[in-house]
Amino acid sequence: MQYEDFYRQSIEQPEQFWAEQARLIHWDTPPQQILDQSNLPFRRWFVGGTTNLCYNAVDRHLADRAEQLALVAISSETDVTREFTYRELYWEVNAFAAVLRSLGVGKGDRVVIYLPNMAEAVFAMLACARIGAIHSVVFGGFAAHNLALRIDDAQPKLLIAADAGMRGGKVIPYKPLVDAALNEASAPPPQVLIVDRGLDPQMTRVAGRDFDYAELRRAHEGVEVPVIWLESNEPSYLLYTSGTTGKPKGVQRDVGGYAVAMALSIRTVFDIAPGQAMFSTSDVGWAVGHSYNVYGPLIGGATSLLYEGMPTRPDPGIWWQLCERYGVRTMFSSPTAIRVLKKQDESWLKKYDLSNLKWLFLAGEPLDEPTAQWITDALGVPVIDNYWQTETGWPAITLMPGLELKAVKFGSPGLPAPGYKMKVIDENTGKEVPAGTKGVLVLQPPLPPGCLSTIWRDDDRYVHSYFSHFRELLYSSLDWAIRDEDGYTFILGRTDDVINVAGHRLGTREIEEAVASHPAVAEAAVVGVRDELKGQVPIVFATLKQDAGVGAGAMALAMQQRVVEQLGGVAKPSRVYVVNALPKTRSGKLLRRSLQALAEQRDPGDLSTLDDPGALDDIRRALELGPDLGS
Ligand code: AMP
Repeated sequence: MQYEDFYRQSIEQPEQFWAEQARLIHWDTPPQQILDQSNLPFRRWFVGGTTNLCYNAVDRHLADRAEQLALVAISSETDVTREFTYRELYWEVNAFAAVLRSLGVGKGDRVVIYLPNMAEAVFAMLACARIGAIHSVVFGGFAAHNLALRIDDAQPKLLIAADAGMRGGKVIPYKPLVDAALNEASAPPPQVLIVDRGLDPQMTRVAGRDFDYAELRRAHEGVEVPVIWLESNEPSYLLYTSGTTGKPKGVQRDVGGYAVAMALSIRTVFDIAPGQAMFSTSDVGWAVGHSYNVYGPLIGGATSLLYEGMPTRPDPGIWWQLCERYGVRTMFSSPTAIRVLKKQDESWLKKYDLSNLKWLFLAGEPLDEPTAQWITDALGVPVIDNYWQTETGWPAITLMPGLELKAVKFGSPGLPAPGYKMKVIDENTGKEVPAGTKGVLVLQPPLPPGCLSTIWRDDDRYVHSYFSHFRELLYSSLDWAIRDEDGYTFILGRTDDVINVAGHRLGTREIEEAVASHPAVAEAAVVGVRDELKGQVPIVFATLKQDAGVGAGAMALAMQQRVVEQLGGVAKPSRVYVVNALPKTRSGKLLRRSLQALAEQRDPGDLSTLDDPGALDDIRRALELGPDLGS
């Protein structure tokens, strides 16, 4: 079918369209109603239908593809590759589910998973899904404070953690971070399950609280755990993401809508049929990892590659070598990763037989034209930029080569995906802007299946964060966009205080809180500035208390360390400026956008609300003199 007809049907006859798509998955009880939108902006898809993500991802394939590879977990850090057929995956997931049950985890209980890209992360997620427990994977690059915030919000019954991760050949112990997070959390889980790879011989265990996975697994090997059928709208998992406040938002996903969105998108967007191989280089801690390392390819009966390590180790050909070895058809990565590879010798891309590779999808941050051009030429396959958010769970703007490949336009992720009723509107009037004019990208409810159903235990925050920006009830993406005459959308960056570092979304407020937690800091402002490799990096401007008693250089280092300790290396400020005052409005609001403009050597914009013009001069001076830390 042509893209236009497919999309039009999804918008004009949503119930018919989605009833058709619902057939892509297995239902224990078929849905009684396709869409309930009586309480917008909340909506319920496939009401009354019961299904299970694990059943659709694993059990369902045993009849036709039990001996086919389901999961290949490659670690170029530990130099171990583990392959699992669907049958082996079935037994691993059942054993994991049995272990979870033995620890008292049941339907509706939350389980926080703090594991790197290893097979057990996939087993743990699917095992939770099997028994109706709600998983919440926390990215391994986040440090103790970030983990504690998520624990306190999710209130899990169990935390699953690795002894350690590895990066660039260096062991990064996880357990001390877990212990610190549990110390800080006000609702720590009573039990911790450790998946021990023996990377950290110094790891300590708390008797009665910390359990060893391998030991419990031995006791439960061969046990089959029945699938718990869930109503389509019950929660399947939570995934925390940064917003404008310091408190992360627990994006809540449903069961049936998500399963259908995965089944539809793996086929029509990513062009993966059962038996074909997909390689997403994402971490399981991100939305892409959930959808296209775990649920999408497995629901689609494909082989999913999971990779722990860097794109350049042991050499910059490693990803392409894997593509050759497993006959990868669709690869999914981020613009930052491609920019890293662009710095290497291009011959690494020519060393391997990539005749099976059909598409390279890139997402998570703006894809600049030179990078897109370089990788398109180097690989000789179309590069598909696709736009989405943790909230949407699958691409909202993309081309759909599984259906029909429309022309690629560099700089644009393309056209709306099925079910996404999209507009670009004027920030002030809320009216649709003409083609070629900048506005805010919005979605008209109901949001399609797969998108978040609410914020965990905070319906008000869901409504307030996304649907309260305009008079009309519209989901604000909080991204600026332009649509061209052909309907292609170009994304121009966030409208809020969220920044995007190497495709990772960070709230500037979270980093400010970490900096300001230093007793000698009076106040901090964090902005994202352009960076050639990572897209954006955070930089800090801070004022010190009068009696700080420490030099600016030492303080700058201490602030940077605070951020790494509390939030993790992903949030590490690249530059720190100690200043005398921060630019604020008369009502005391930080003028972050002016600060960012100055740091990027742009016009600081409207300064009529500025309280003390001297503050801006002070910033200019600091920028001229150079940072107290960084270069
Ligand atoms: P996250 O929830 O971490 O996936 O971040 C979502 C944000 O990343 C979006 O709101 C955009 O600002 C940005 N983003 C994601 N994909 C793209 C893309 N293809 N082009 C430009 N920006 C993107």
